[in-house]
Amino acid sequence: MSGQFATSRRKQTANNSPTTRILSWGRYPKTAHQHVHKPAWNDQVPELLRAAAPGSLLPYGLGRSYGDSCLNAGRELIDCRRLNRFLGFDESTGMLRCESGVSLSEIIDIFLPKGWFLPVTPGTRYVTVGGVIANDVHGKNHHCAGTFGAHVRQIGLHRSNDGLVVCNADCNSDMLAATIGGLGLTGVIAWADIQLKRVAGPWMDAETIPFESLAAFLDLTRESNNRFEYTVAWLDCFAGKNLRGIFFRGNHAADAGKTFHPKRGPKLPFALPAWMLNSYSIRAFNAAYYKVHSLKKGASVVPYDSFFYPLDSIRQWNLLYGKQGFLQYQCVIPETNVEAFEELLDRIASSGMGSFLGVMKQFGSAPPAGMLSFARPGLTVALDFAMRGERTLQLMHSLDEIVQHSGGALYPAKDARMSPALFEASFPRWRSFVPYIDPKMSSSFWRRVTGAQS
Ligand SMILES: Cc1cc2nc3c(=O)[nH]c(=O)nc-3n(C[C@H](O)[C@H](O)[C@H](O)COP(=O)(O)OP(=O)(O)OC[C@H]3O[C@@H](n4cnc5c(N)ncnc54)[C@H](O)[C@@H]3O)c2cc1C
Repeated sequence: MSGQFATSRRKQTANNSPTTRILSWGRYPKTAHQHVHKPAWNDQVPELLRAAAPGSLLPYGLGRSYGDSCLNAGRELIDCRRLNRFLGFDESTGMLRCESGVSLSEIIDIFLPKGWFLPVTPGTRYVTVGGVIANDVHGKNHHCAGTFGAHVRQIGLHRSNDGLVVCNADCNSDMLAATIGGLGLTGVIAWADIQLKRVAGPWMDAETIPFESLAAFLDLTRESNNRFEYTVAWLDCFAGKNLRGIFFRGNHAADAGKTFHPKRGPKLPFALPAWMLNSYSIRAFNAAYYKVHSLKKGASVVPYDSFFYPLDSIRQWNLLYGKQGFLQYQCVIPETNVEAFEELLDRIASSGMGSFLGVMKQFGSAPPAGMLSFARPGLTVALDFAMRGERTLQLMHSLDEIVQHSGGALYPAKDARMSPALFEASFPRWRSFVPYIDPKMSSSFWRRVTGAQS
């Protein structure tokens, strides 16, 4: 499993400590040289924290965040990937204890054959337990399961001033709520207890349904929410107000068998030239995608990995966007403001920019698990934009205005550029989070949106 160190270059800083260039998944921003610590054991972490300068450190998982929330430009990262041990599992309850560098992929490989699956999963399996807790990630089952943080029963958290702090519902519950969605700023998660979910096997009963308007999407969502554990839609971002897309819904199959041998997909060897991705090629791709999936309309039994992780089938697909990288725009807009959602999609369509990987979903009404959790009731959309300089940033800025006026929010895990004002509007309680920040922690994202220097 490769992290984002593949493209790194080594360099010396003024104080002679070697730094590495680390990119997040969007490969934008480019400027983040950082010194990287790579502890192999949890008992090495306290010394790292003790020796660090205030505001100098940030934990790092598999770098699948798109923007700068996993970066710490000019400072230091603690790469947690070698903290990847399984510490305990109760077969009767499905309670798993593992270190924070364990990836969701490793959990699936070991526990799915035993009949257990993740309670919530994002659209890639190549993320760490620490990373998904720190962003309190959501999945296709948000409407019935909430976020990943809702299934974390207990964590061990390394704090520079208090040692290893155990946090659960009865003990340090406020620190638990701060750490879930806490962007790595409250300390280094050493281990976590996660409630896995019983499933019959690796297959999914899935349905594919084309739709041709936002109203049709909303009807499908309402009709599916009680009957389907997982729902999500792909959208053609060039369609504008005459929105069209493909609605996917599914449940774990009860009796489709146990055996399944996952295929390893091809790998994109290098960044593609920027000209290959333009409004014509994306428009053509979207039209073809819509047509192919419209033809596949109906029910089928599919393996779990193509249902949950279609993008993982092309390794390093982020290189598709060329050397400049890309930004993902993920926002949520309250459903009482559907017009704002329509206006947002319309603006993207008329910009001629936008991607083939747009997804949208209605979030459920589960209360947020963390103080800074992003997922909340409303409609969320996530779209990739190739980085084309000022033009791209201006479009996003104009989308920000819609999100902010609608009372919506932007997702920090996908962000590289939101303004402090939009951050404040998205997370009005952020100041009550500040006392929980570990004095040794900071990030590029946090300094950018709050103006904090350490
Ligand atoms: C293809 C793809 C699909 C995605 N789909 C979704 C989706 O459906 N839903 C969704 O919510 N997100 C989604 N994401 C985003 C991704 O799930 C999150 O960004 C996730 O947090 C990345 O985990 P990571 O291990 O790579 O962590 P990183 O990106 O390395 O770090 C993320 C945050 O976790 C912190 N962190 C890492 N390890 C620790 C630790 N041990 N202790 C404390 N803090 C730590 C970091 O400081 C940082 O703030 C997707 C990303 C990709 C690339």
